[in-house]
Amino acid sequence: MVKKFVLLGSPVAHSFSPAIQNAAIEAAGLDWRYETMEVAPEELAPAIASMRSHGWLGANVTIPHKEAVLPLLDEIDASAAQTSAVNTIVNKEGHLVGHNTDLRGFIHDLRAHWRVPRTGRSFILGAGGAARAVAFGLAQEGLDLSLIARTASHAERLAEDLRRYHDLEVAALPWARASFARAASQCALIVNATPLGMMPEDHNSPWPDDVALPPDAFVYDLVYSPREPRLVQQAQHSGLKAVSGAGMLLEQAALSYELWTGLRAPRERMKAALEEAMERLRPGGRKDARPDHREVIDA
Ligand code: NAP
Repeated sequence: MVKKFVLLGSPVAHSFSPAIQNAAIEAAGLDWRYETMEVAPEELAPAIASMRSHGWLGANVTIPHKEAVLPLLDEIDASAAQTSAVNTIVNKEGHLVGHNTDLRGFIHDLRAHWRVPRTGRSFILGAGGAARAVAFGLAQEGLDLSLIARTASHAERLAEDLRRYHDLEVAALPWARASFARAASQCALIVNATPLGMMPEDHNSPWPDDVALPPDAFVYDLVYSPREPRLVQQAQHSGLKAVSGAGMLLEQAALSYELWTGLRAPRERMKAALEEAMERLRPGGRKDARPDHREVIDA
């Protein structure tokens, strides 16, 4: 029987993860497969039970299960415990261990593009699973944080969790023009951790048109499809340095692969596979383009 890894989530049909992970598996000459598994919330517990009974080697977990999966596992590592979110499960002979590689994936890619200052304030847009990984990563770097979120209770809960682990100043702000204006006047880093700008709604941006971006901030947008989300374009037009989340996507995938296999991930091969998969999605890209962009997700 072919050994496998699965991506549990909904929707997962158009994930880039199979392309990235299967490229790594092939490069190592392994007879393993990475597959997607569409799992609705009520199917999560049976899916985890299948993982044990079928001996799947590992899994990625994505929207909407990153938090719900925690109580179904046998052990949670420090990154998953702090963030209360799991994106990677390692099956150690039936003992399931949850990890969060989004956190290290984000910090790795942020550092590759920006010299993280010793002090300063970051504004994080959103307070969902990805925002949790970003916030804990930035808190470890010692930066003060402001969370701008649509649902106040989500931002407040994340702020409380951060204060429990870190001695830093965290503010939870409403999704309102005044909060963005405040960010514009005092911030070193803006991170978009909402899906605003993701295909097919790529005309969207989380940043309001009538508020100028901060003059010296670095902008990191977790959205990676399209390659240059609208927020990245807005920032570049304002003379700011800005990147999309493609580098984070690759690094979190590489770290998951390393946890599962104990092998060094072939990052260049994984990157080439991602580039190819993205090229297939580009309007006017290669002929075998996939039919729509609606369900492109991270894992
Ligand atoms: P999530 O858990 O569903 O959280 C989404 C957050 O965005 C929530 O705080 C939500 O607000 C907010 N939001 C959604 N629509 C909004 C809108 N119209 N206006 C204002 N806020 C809105 O999702 P997630 O897992 O955190 O993912 C967020 C984004 O990050 C997605 O685009 C995902 O693809 C991307 N991501 C990228 C990577 C990568 O490797 N590059 C990794 C993980 C995630 P509420 O709090 O009100 O629900």
